[in-house]
Amino acid sequence: MGASVVAIDGPAGAGKSTVAKRLAVRLNFSYLDTGAMYRSVTLKAMRQGVPLDNEDALAHMAKNTRLDLRGNPQSGLKVFLDGEDVSDEIRTPEVTNQTFYIARAPKVRAVMVELQRAIGSGTDVVIEGRDIGTVVFPEARFKFYLDASVEERAERRFKEFREKGKEIALAQVIEDVRKRDETDFNRSVGPLRKAEDAVVIDSTRMSIDEVVEAMARHVEKQKN
Ligand code: C5P
Repeated sequence: MGASVVAIDGPAGAGKSTVAKRLAVRLNFSYLDTGAMYRSVTLKAMRQGVPLDNEDALAHMAKNTRLDLRGNPQSGLKVFLDGEDVSDEIRTPEVTNQTFYIARAPKVRAVMVELQRAIGSGTDVVIEGRDIGTVVFPEARFKFYLDASVEERAERRFKEFREKGKEIALAQVIEDVRKRDETDFNRSVGPLRKAEDAVVIDSTRMSIDEVVEAMARHVEKQKN
């Protein structure tokens, strides 16, 4: 049998990253976090003062950017932007809140999608994002759409921030999650959509283990 892509799409905070990494370990697949790519390009534009509303300048910059996602989900994953480890910096609220500029620019998305296909083709890989099952790998063998209520997703983010010692009001986190949903669902290119053939999993009342188990069982059943 050829290589298999497992696509995991869904809104911010549904638990995609944790689940995708665990699933990759369990299946012995590699793992690709496409959100980290959009975040890294955002960080570069912010640092270099490239106007976030100038699509051509952003696309030019993206084309001339080296992104390496190294390591594996077990030993730890690192994101390198032009050779520099930016794994932590791309997760700050400042970068998170500016990423929609990059994500809504069709010419930048085209560069990202091409790179994602190059990385993911011909290998067994779990890929998480927003448009993986619809745009990047519409032929993916396995597609999941991981969802959860806005309140549950915000609550999870809030806990993460608190564990990292970040002071932030829950109301602010809810507001940010809603805003991200709105931009993710409404952009004209690569919007967040459930692929028709995706398996929907609502994780609102499920533990991470339960979600991983459900996905792994689905993949293993189909593979045999
Ligand atoms: O998944 P993560 O929260 O790290 O993604 C960061 C941002 O990148 C999201 O808000 C989303 O707008 C964008 N993104 C995207 N397409 C993807 C993955 C992420 O537009 N495939």
